[in-house]
This record gives sequence, C-alpha cells and structure tokens, in this order.
Amino acid sequence: MSDTSRDTRTEGTPAAIDVVDLHKYFGDNEVLTGIDFHVDNGEVVCVIGPSGSGKSTLLRCVNLLEVPTKGKIFVEGQEITDPDADVDKLRSRIGMVFQQFNLFPHMTALRNLTIAQEKVAGRKKDEAIEIARRNLEKVGLADRESAYPAHLSGGQQQRIAIARALSMEPDMMLFDEPTSALDPELVGDVLAVMKDLAAEGMTMMVVTHEMGFAREVGDKLVFMDGGVIVEEGEPSAVLADPQHERTQSFLSKVL
Ligand code: ADP
Ligand code: MG
Repeated sequence: MSDTSRDTRTEGTPAAIDVVDLHKYFGDNEVLTGIDFHVDNGEVVCVIGPSGSGKSTLLRCVNLLEVPTKGKIFVEGQEITDPDADVDKLRSRIGMVFQQFNLFPHMTALRNLTIAQEKVAGRKKDEAIEIARRNLEKVGLADRESAYPAHLSGGQQQRIAIARALSMEPDMMLFDEPTSALDPELVGDVLAVMKDLAAEGMTMMVVTHEMGFAREVGDKLVFMDGGVIVEEGEPSAVLADPQHERTQSFLSKVL
C-alpha cells in the first residue's frame, strides 16, 4: 500500500469516498474537528444536523471546493488531498448539486447540459446533445430542452441541475440540501429523481432535512453537530432510537 492509495474495503474494491481525520479551519474557527467516515460504492449516505454544524463544509471538502486543513480524503482509493493528485480528473468523477440550482440563466436547459461536456469533458457537440437529452429524459424534462431557467419552476430547475451533473457521467453525486429552496409542492419530484438515481446504483452523499427520504432511500444516516459526527447508523434505527442526547434533541425538533 502506497502513501497515496488506500484499500480499506472488503472484497478488494476501495470505498467510493473515504475521509480520515478531516479538520477544516476558517481562520481560527475550526469547523470540522476530526471527521472519519466512508461511503461504499452504490451506497446512499444522508447527512443531517443543525445549521452551522459543518455539513456543507464536509461536502465541499470531498470535491475540494474547500481545501482541508488536515486529514486525508480518498476517492475510489486515490488520495485527493495529495498535493500531486490530478484534482481536475478526480473532481470530474464527482457530480455536485447545490441548494441554489446555479443554472446559467442566459442558456436553455439543453445548453446548460452541454456546455461543460464540450468545454470541460471535450465532447463533440452531437455527442454532448445526445447525452444531455438522455439525462433530460431521465429527470422527466425531455419536453423542456428549449426553456430558459426563468421559465421553469424551482423544482424543474433543480432537476435540470441534476441532469447537468449527470451529463458529466460522474461515478458519485453529492447533494447539498437540494430541496431546501423549493416550495413544498415541488420537493417530491426532485426527491423522486434522486430515488431513481439511488435505485440505479449511484453512489450518493445527501445533506438533507427530508427524514422520509433518508429513511426510505438512505443506506446510512450520519448526524453531525459542532463539526463532528455524533452518531451514524442505519437510518430507521437512528431516527427511531437515537443514542446520543444531541441527536435526540435535534430529532425532537425536526420530526
Ligand atoms: P452547515 O452546512 O451544517 O449549515 P457549514 O459547513 O455551512 O454548516 O458551516 C459550518 C461553519 O463554518 C459555520 O460556522 C460557518 O459560518 C462557517 N463557514 C462556512 N463557510 C465559511 C467560509 N467560507 N468562511 C468562513 N467561515 C465559514
Ligand atoms: Mg449547509
């Protein structure tokens, strides 16, 4: 085993994501104070916790939108925190979906899905369009390819954002509160797309307040508070019988 690769899983396949003693400071403020966890291939891990507990920072460290202060992160066995790692290549394996959909407002839905395929992945226009249309179909928006974001509902925009991430053909997807900005009646369609994705075997890390989704779709539920993982386990077990006082207190407020 070299310093930059690590194979901790059973059956010889490295974990999709393996986080080892991760610390993150913003100035003097230590917002992640030693995080260890892993996500296996095909696993759906949901992350819950109070505002400010470090959920977004954790997710952003996994694809190096934030640079960890200390600790190691392995993606499919490759250490992404190694100074010599090919960050762009590693990052291209990870799709990310944010609370604010971040679509390009001056581009059609289809163009939102093809631009990075052409400019970042180097695909030819025809191939990019074919992949984009397949993903628009997958999120139930094949008939809206010519629409601009302003003419789509929030739920439709978020499904376009998911389709855009999928069009880069990532090995795993990170979701940071993907339904928190949506009107309640639009949440279900987005969760349904994510559920389909999970059923297809996509590896997913999902920060969410949707406990029903966590229970139904999640393989593992992680509860964070104050920059640490307080508790993790099988979702229905954690939700029904939290072991730690902080988990109990949080769940009593949200359930
Ligand atoms: P959560 O997603 O659980 O609400 P965050 O990861 O966004 O929590 O934030 C954790 C802590 O880190 C908060 O105290 C927040 O103010 C701080 N923080 C997050 N991003 C930054 C940043 N870019 N600069 C300084 N502090 C930050
Ligand atoms: Mg957050």
